[in-house]
Amino acid sequence: MFTNLHSPLQKLDHPTLTNLWIKRDDMIDPYISGNKWRKLKYIIEAAKEKGKTHLVTFGGAYSNHLVATASAAARLGFKATAFVRGEPVDNETLLLCRLFDMKLIFTERELYKNKWVLFDAHFGDDPAAYFIDEGGASMEAVRGCAELIAELPKDFDYIFCAAGTGTTAAGLLQGVKQNGLSSQIHVVPVLKGGAFIKDEIAQFTEITEQLVLHTDYHFGGYAKSTEQLLAYMASFISAQGILIDPVYTAKLFFAIEDLAERNLIRKDAKILAIHTGGLLGIWGMQAKLNAILST
Ligand SMILES: *Cc1c(COP(=O)(O)O)cnc(C)c1O
Repeated sequence: MFTNLHSPLQKLDHPTLTNLWIKRDDMIDPYISGNKWRKLKYIIEAAKEKGKTHLVTFGGAYSNHLVATASAAARLGFKATAFVRGEPVDNETLLLCRLFDMKLIFTERELYKNKWVLFDAHFGDDPAAYFIDEGGASMEAVRGCAELIAELPKDFDYIFCAAGTGTTAAGLLQGVKQNGLSSQIHVVPVLKGGAFIKDEIAQFTEITEQLVLHTDYHFGGYAKSTEQLLAYMASFISAQGILIDPVYTAKLFFAIEDLAERNLIRKDAKILAIHTGGLLGIWGMQAKLNAILST
């Protein structure tokens, strides 16, 4: 399953950024989308090697990682369970998880914090159970994400990605080192106070010289948005014909355009934006998006 990856590189037709490219990791798979595919590749390989048949993981109610894990598990014949943060809810993301036959255990926020305690309490005596951290954060995930760089030409000035845990960013940093690229890796954390991402990245890779962090594009925090962001997202989608999502990639593209506008990056630089997928995030904001589209 983790072969024959389809992620084309496309040049965008943009009014001011004349050399802006997009890496379409969103096209890898509709459900094991974008960076989640790259992250799960070696995680699942490791689970298999250890003879595990039950993937146990963690996430919020709109987690792209949960859908990706559920879908991969169904395709590869694993059992899957997820601890879902917060009160029991129904939504489109969790419906997909259920259809892929992932078992959901809704977990109160305080308990959710200690993931290994939860895992041990429920699955400590299940030798088939395999712990996968929230968002897939792991060295295996870093290794999978690093592979993206080998698929690129070497002459990008800037490579941009959105960050939640920073695992993908760590992989890209590793990848540029391994492949001898001098590109700067520009990271846009989608959480408030995103400076912590630097420490998260440092847990996974020592190579951080090429890292540039932009912490002012969180729009209020994780899964938060503003009318400005959603209007930007709608205009990007209609101009480019490429779907982006409010949680990650809309913040990413907004940041690129804003930094260029303010001359903090060069407008004529060869820029790559990584479309990390995750389009299910749109369904979490239907009411707000409908309001914006009807004005
Ligand atoms: C999960 C996700 C990210 C964040 O990746 P990290 O490795 O956790 O930083 C970025 N973009 C999309 C679309 C995602 O689903």
